[in-house]
Amino acid sequence: MKKYFFLFTGILLFPFRGNAAVDVVTHPDGRRYTQVVFNGSIDRKYDIVFIGDGFTLAEQGLFNKKVGEAWKTLCETYPWSERLCAFNIWQVNVISEQSGVDRRAEGIYRNTELNCYYDAITTRLIQSETPWLCQEAASYAPAYDAIFVLVNDTTWGGAAGSLVFCSINPKFGFIVSHELGHFLGDLADEYDCYVCDGSDDNRSYFGGEPWEANLTNKKTLAEIKWKDLINPGTPLPTGPGVSPGTVGIWEGGGYYRFGMYRSQFDCHMRSRYKPFCQVCARHLLPKLESRCDSTDIRFFTCQLSALPLRKISRPRLSWKFPPCLSCPFEDPLVRFIFELSDPRIQSGQAVVRNTRGEIVAQQEVSERQKIRISFEGLRFEEYSLEIHTTEQAAGLNGLNPTVTINGKEMAGNLRQMF
Ligand SMILES: [Zn+2]
Repeated sequence: MKKYFFLFTGILLFPFRGNAAVDVVTHPDGRRYTQVVFNGSIDRKYDIVFIGDGFTLAEQGLFNKKVGEAWKTLCETYPWSERLCAFNIWQVNVISEQSGVDRRAEGIYRNTELNCYYDAITTRLIQSETPWLCQEAASYAPAYDAIFVLVNDTTWGGAAGSLVFCSINPKFGFIVSHELGHFLGDLADEYDCYVCDGSDDNRSYFGGEPWEANLTNKKTLAEIKWKDLINPGTPLPTGPGVSPGTVGIWEGGGYYRFGMYRSQFDCHMRSRYKPFCQVCARHLLPKLESRCDSTDIRFFTCQLSALPLRKISRPRLSWKFPPCLSCPFEDPLVRFIFELSDPRIQSGQAVVRNTRGEIVAQQEVSERQKIRISFEGLRFEEYSLEIHTTEQAAGLNGLNPTVTINGKEMAGNLRQMF
């Protein structure tokens, strides 16, 4: 399937067309976007915007969930996981009249806001008849470096150009991750063919040294870009009988079967369910680091914002504290302190739970006493803070506990879950 993701890059370049109104969820304060993950200034961070097509108003929860899944994949994929502070994630909830998208080969047509469709002939290719509307919807977010259009259909498919279209297949998060390898890292595809239908499976490369960090046509050690990662004695080219994780030069890459080399047998840029190879990962890391700074180690970056369509209606407030993915502390045991002080909360109970729902710490809340819960926990464990209050919860939004870990107050806020 990978083949379709780079076939149509040229077609998807389009002019911006203003004035068309895309129907999107608008917040009470007039915002037409939701901040999913915020790590800092849009000038500095890599801003990813997710928009959806074929999601009705009633299906916006599904769209939100899918954005969360994409982020979770990044959170779990090295090296993104190492420097999540590089990203801001935004979403614009585009409302379609009908659910699903056109499937032209089957004569199925849906009235959707961004007019996405599966192609009639290349049936796994997904595009939009109106890419400028996708661009407009994305432009409602504060900034974008990459735009992903999620279409409400689980049939595998997509296309990548200046916009990336993906279906919501259960593993679509890997597409997002792979495409970021291109966008953010200028990495090349490491697979052997371009169309991959049998017509171009055995092409040979005769050009010069490719500029991308993860391909070479050089076969002598001194000339290979990643020579410092190659152990003495590794056969060059590196081939059958050698352990697939060995860094060397493996023939095939950049859509050529012969004459082009990659560094390890497999890589996320070759098989998107595999991890990034060492060469790709070390190329990406400084690009991510340049978007973070030393005070910028973020602990809350996997947190999802509240869904835009619901309001607080119960006297139970909760915040989720995600695993500390870029934690600077070596020891797995760390001291957490959650603190919150707000005159609107005068009585009740505050509890911290682990992912199994077990209470790990608690405190009675009383007037004049601020909430301060201190406990020792695992830095990779996920904790949630809940406050059960007898106060009327409506109107208690905007509360932000602070979190201190090993005496270091963490930047950023926990976001309230609804
Ligand atoms: Zn690679």
